[in-house]
Amino acid sequence: MSRERLYLFDTTLRDGAQTNGVDFTLADKIAIARMLDELGVDYVEAGYPGANPTDTSFFAEKRPAQAKITAFGMTRRPGRSTSNDPGLAALLDAQADAICFVAKAWDYHVRVALETTEEENLASIRDSVRAAKAKGREVLLDCEHFFDGYKANSAYALACAKVAYDEGARWVVLCDTNGGTLPHEVEKIVGEVCKQIPGDHVGIHAHNDTEQAVANSFAAVRAGARQIQGTLNGLGERCGNANLVSIIPTLKLKAEYAGKFDICVSDAALGHIARASHGLDDILNRAADRHAPYVGESAFATKAGIHASAIIKDPATYEHVPPERVGNKRKLLVSDQSGRSNLLAELDRIGFAIDRDDPRLSRLLDEVKEREAIGYAYETADASFELLARRLLGKVPRYFDVEKFDVSVEQRINAKGERVSVSMAVVKVRVGDELLISAAEGNGPVNALDVALRKDLGKYQSYITGLELTDYRVRILNAGTEAVTRVLIESADETGDHWTTIGVSSNIIDASFQALMDSIVYKLVKSGAPA
Ligand SMILES: [Zn+2]
Repeated sequence: MSRERLYLFDTTLRDGAQTNGVDFTLADKIAIARMLDELGVDYVEAGYPGANPTDTSFFAEKRPAQAKITAFGMTRRPGRSTSNDPGLAALLDAQADAICFVAKAWDYHVRVALETTEEENLASIRDSVRAAKAKGREVLLDCEHFFDGYKANSAYALACAKVAYDEGARWVVLCDTNGGTLPHEVEKIVGEVCKQIPGDHVGIHAHNDTEQAVANSFAAVRAGARQIQGTLNGLGERCGNANLVSIIPTLKLKAEYAGKFDICVSDAALGHIARASHGLDDILNRAADRHAPYVGESAFATKAGIHASAIIKDPATYEHVPPERVGNKRKLLVSDQSGRSNLLAELDRIGFAIDRDDPRLSRLLDEVKEREAIGYAYETADASFELLARRLLGKVPRYFDVEKFDVSVEQRINAKGERVSVSMAVVKVRVGDELLISAAEGNGPVNALDVALRKDLGKYQSYITGLELTDYRVRILNAGTEAVTRVLIESADETGDHWTTIGVSSNIIDASFQALMDSIVYKLVKSGAPA
């Protein structure tokens, strides 16, 4: 059976950039565009040339890409000609492969927001598409509020889409701008549109206000649409846009779609989609969503003992797709509920072959239980678990010893009369016969300690240069009779790997120190540093 081509349009850099608290720099935008290009999407909508300096600079030069770099902007303003509209001129001049116009498709909005006539709005769409085509650009039209507009006045909403298509727009994109349309409505309306405009010229742009942006995108595809617009991790204003990180694996791995459609994302690129998702989190300086479908750390995690023993026999029993296809991994949680099976499987995953009856296995299980009773949580701290297991099985070299550390916090009034606090840490480390002393300042005591610890590890320094702390979380727990602090630190390195380490103590600095040490030692083990 010949398969149909389905196109993917990413708008992380345009709609995603409208999210509260997101402010991409030019360098961020270039990095994200590169990531999207490697993933293999067809279109990268990069912004709004002329609207702000960052977007204008992005489009000032042509960026080499497989994907079509797309500029976004409005159709000509009502009552003006295309040659007398500076906004439109900036859009037409941008170094872009494609132009995506946005236009109103709801008669009510045309009258109230645009304060113009229905006819003038149609003329504006027609003239703008024509002007962009004359410039040699591929043209798309985002029909804003299409679904609400269609419910209010289907003939007018359709006319807006149709005029663009008739004028030669490659795509008309039906936008659920408020995000309130439900999947069965999307399916019905898109089906009706596809009777007037061929589905291979129709796109869907869904928002997640009822948590159904992904479902709405698939509903549109079932009804005939052949372009899906979305963003990495569903980034977007309010509740976000359709999440391409969920849509792409579904298109590639679920028979209903994989058997019917070809998309531009290769199997190899799919294997890196988790990395792309985490890459965006890194740029946004956010912790990754552990429970994200396909790519979250917990997406293939299993806790209960009976499930775990079944998974070892045949992973397909509890997994809807193989985790490695999306660059994720299976994880059997080691926790106080866990049985021997979880532990054995987890040890196997990290490369220890150990017999089921080995007495060290019981010792490790006891140790995990004892530590969890005082506040450790190994199911979230995979790297600390691995070190604990390696230590009990006698396989972690003693790379270095921290003989002493001292952390101070000073608060004072500076020369400008402002109250500032400065933290300083001094660390004394023994590496073999060498005694190294490092001092560092930081924006807080843990930061100062981290910088000082990683400043000079003598012969091991070269192994940790790519190490980076990406997240730091603190929880106060009531374990037994006293409150204790649990610190979780997430680290990453130059290979794109992420890991989590843990520390527990009644003292937050001490708990942080444990987690920092585990992270450094884990990185040394991982990099194969010699003992
Ligand atoms: Zn949108």
